[in-house]
Order: sequence, then C-alpha cells, then structure tokens
Amino acid sequence: MNIQSKESASLALPFSANIIGGKNVEAADGRILDVLCPSDGQAFARIARSGAEDVSRAVAAARKAFEGDWGRLTALERGRLLMKLGEAIADHAPELAALESRDTGKPLKHGKADMVAAARYFEFYGSAADKLYGDTLPFLNGYTVAIVNDPHGVTGHIVPWNYPAQIFGRSVAASLACGNACVVKPAEDACLSLIRIAELARDIGFPDGALNIVAGLGSEAGAALSSHPDVDFISFTGSPQTGTAIQAAAARNNIGVTMELGGKSPQLLFADADIETAVPVVINAIIQNGGQTCSAGSRVLIERSAYAKFSKAIAERFAKVRAGAHDRDLDMGAMINAKQKARVEFYLKQAKEQGQHVLAQGVVDADAPAGGFYVAPTLFGDVPRDNALAIEEVFGPVLSLMPFEDEADAIALANGTPYGLVAGVWTGDAKRSIRVARAMRCGQVFVNGYGAGGGIELPFGGVKRSGHGREKGFEALREFCASKTIVINHG
Ligand code: NAD
Repeated sequence: MNIQSKESASLALPFSANIIGGKNVEAADGRILDVLCPSDGQAFARIARSGAEDVSRAVAAARKAFEGDWGRLTALERGRLLMKLGEAIADHAPELAALESRDTGKPLKHGKADMVAAARYFEFYGSAADKLYGDTLPFLNGYTVAIVNDPHGVTGHIVPWNYPAQIFGRSVAASLACGNACVVKPAEDACLSLIRIAELARDIGFPDGALNIVAGLGSEAGAALSSHPDVDFISFTGSPQTGTAIQAAAARNNIGVTMELGGKSPQLLFADADIETAVPVVINAIIQNGGQTCSAGSRVLIERSAYAKFSKAIAERFAKVRAGAHDRDLDMGAMINAKQKARVEFYLKQAKEQGQHVLAQGVVDADAPAGGFYVAPTLFGDVPRDNALAIEEVFGPVLSLMPFEDEADAIALANGTPYGLVAGVWTGDAKRSIRVARAMRCGQVFVNGYGAGGGIELPFGGVKRSGHGREKGFEALREFCASKTIVINHG
C-alpha cells in the first residue's frame, strides 16, 4: 500500500473502485492508494482511499437493502443466491487466485486453495440459510413461547490482508445467510479479490446494497466503519491492538463484536508420536502464508526423551523450505509489506543478539525479485520459556522448538502464553490425546494433525487474548443473529 495523489504517474494502473449500492464508485474526494505486489515491491493496481463519507454512503446503502429488496427475500432465496455466488467464485477461480496471489505475495497454488475455501463458505452458508431453526420452550399453561433468530441489520466486516478471500468468505457468507446486509472494509494491503467477488455478487443478482466494499486505510475507513452509529455488529480479524480500538469504538454504540486476534499456537509432540507424519505438517503449519497466519503453529513442544531425534528430523526438512515470488509457486512467498518484513527481522535480530540457537534456515530463491519483502524462514532450538520467541506472535516464518518433561509440564507450557487460539497434540496414546486436548485453553485442538485455519465446518475462534466469538461452522450463524423470544398467551 502506498498513498498517491490523483496526479501521480500510477494513474496508468488499473483502478478497482468501491462497490456501494451495487455501483462501482470512487472515493467521494477522489483519493486513491497504490497497491504493491509483495514479490517485487512494485505498484500494480490502485484502490479508493475511502473516508467517513464513503463509509456513510455504504452503510446507508446496506440499511436500504436490509429494509428493502434484500430483507424481503426468504431464507431459501437468500441461500440460493449465496450458493450461486459460491459457484461464481469457483468458475472465476483462476482469475481470482492470480489476483490474490499477486496482491498478497502468496504462491499461486495457495491462492487457488484460498478460492476453493472461499467458494465453499458461500456454499456452506447458502445451504444453511433455511436451516437456522428457532426453538420453543415449556412455560405457563395457556402460553406458547417461540424463540426466533433475527438478523442484526447492518454488519461491518474489517478484514486483514493475510487471507482476504477466505476471511471475507467466512464472515460475510455467514452474515448474509442470516439476512444481514454487509459493509466490508478490506485491508489496504490486499483487497482486490474482495472487490471482484462483490462485482460477481452484483452480476448474479444480489440486490443492490446487500454487499458493499469500502477500501481504504484502517485509521480512516476502518475507524469510520467501527464507530458508525448505524452499524449493528462488527466482525474483526487482525491484530490485538486494532481489536482493542475497534471494541472501544463499538462500545460507544453498545453493539456486539467478534474478535479474532491471533495466537502463539503450540504443537505438542510426545515421544510416541508418529514423527514421519508429524514433520511435514508441523513445518507447513508455520510456513503456510509465510507464517502470517493467525493460527500458525509457531511453537513446537517436544518431550525431552525424543527432543534430539525429533528436532533433527524437523531441522533437516526445514532447511529445504524455499521462499520466492508468488508466480514461482515455491513453499512460501514474501512478507506482505516492508513493515511486516521489518517486524520479523526485528525478532530475528533480537534472538541473534541474545545468542538463541538457530537450528536451520530455509532459503530465499536466487531469482526472487529485488524490492520484494523476503525473509528467510528460521528454526530456533531450545528456546527459553520466557523468551519473546516463546510468547509473542511474530507473524512470520519463525518456528521455536522447546523441550518439556512430562504431560503436566507440556500442558502448562502449551497454556502458558496470553494467547489461546489453536493447538496440535501428537501422540500414539489415545487416552492421553483426549486428556491433553481437553486441557488445552484454546478454541480448536487437532489430534495427530494440524489444520491451520482449515475446515469451513469447524467452529473457530480464541480464548484469552486471542479474542472472543466464533466464526466458521454453524456457530458463526449464532453470532450474526440475535434471538427474540415471543410469548403468546392463548389461554
Ligand atoms: P491490523 O489489525 O491493524 O489490520 C487489520 C485490519 O484492520 C485492516 O483492514 C486494517 O485496515 C484495519 N484497521 C487498522 N486500524 C484500524 C482502526 N483503527 N479501526 C478500524 N480498522 C482498522 O493489522 P496490520 O497493521 O495489518 O498488521 C499488524 C499485526 O497484526 C501483524 O504483524 C500481525 O501480528 C497481526 N495480524 C493478525 C492477523 C490475524 O489473522 N490474526 C491478521 C493480520 C495482522
């Protein structure tokens, strides 16, 4: 992302406009932002730099749709439109994946996988729209009590840059399925696929205003959306600091929020784990998206008796990881921007100064374009429990190995950070797998596997400082509705 005036030389670059009320529109004051490709640091597209006026127009369009054409649809009709959008995303997957990959710097194969997931969110929630049953409950004689699920109205979605299409899919599809109208503020660093998906939605017949996209900076468009008095609910994924700012803004309007704020997710390898199966999964869980994944498995805790053997197996494979340009389709791409690269390099420099032990380092491809935001993936061994690498979210391709003594120690170590998003438990002992999974303080646990962020059907979200509320699966539908109790006295 780079701020430009309208007179800039970048005017030759393609411009992706906001989508407000079904129309492609520029920012009200005509301001624009350049979009950089992380692989070479070059601008390749432009988006609107929206402000409060644009957000207000989008919220008004969403309100109109909610009270009009969109709100009047039956659940079945809504669901069919969502499923049709899922099909349209699948049909346009090559175009969307190429866009996502260039915009985020992730390898093309991962952009393709993201589009499969995005399409599936719309299929999943489309088919759920007419199955969101209410309830009845026993009450006094002569009364019937019905509990129905009402949409909130207008929902705001503030989306990060790491998985734009997937995170858009998981929150927007669920919200639309419930009957809400949406205003989305994508990340300034990567938002082109979302704008294109919203165009597809319009082209297949979504009523105007049901789905609006307002691109721009977090401090401008994002702040305006989270504080807007006519927004009824906010869904946010991103950093804890921004989460706090958004909750403070939402609190002034007393509206609900879901917060997905990252983690320091552990993978626990007991000595009886199937190490052959575990190694590629453990490495993928940190390398995926260059470690810029909220549910990245960034700590690997290994039973001391197997520590030497397991850490050697992990290091051997880790050293083969390759980073490069998105279109080279290697293991990982560049960091999203210069700031994120600097953040990761800060952690690496600090660890080096402290004398932390580097067990292995992957390579940045020799052909990686100059100007790209590359960082060599790095594996640290015997990381002390109080070290930043053991506690803080680096959000980069940095993996920490740490030994533990026994089951109780493993549980204490795994739960010993402020975060609680995901955990992986690797053991051949079935009873232990259940005991340890139950003891994890987090929102999702994988046993003998690790699906960093995967699984459309699987409820997902954090405890402790990883946030609150659940997205994905059927649980998300409860977030985007409010129950209403109707008490009928019929004598
Ligand atoms: P961020 O949380 O600031 O940005 C996420 C989204 O929030 C973007 O759309 C941004 O425009 C918007 N935003 C920013 N400030 C806002 C504000 N005041 N009001 C409303 N919206 C606002 O993340 P970042 O600055 O891009 O990255 C910083 C760190 O956040 C990363 O290093 C990483 O640790 C973390 N992060 C986590 C996730 C995740 O999935 N959990 C995703 C992205 C970033």
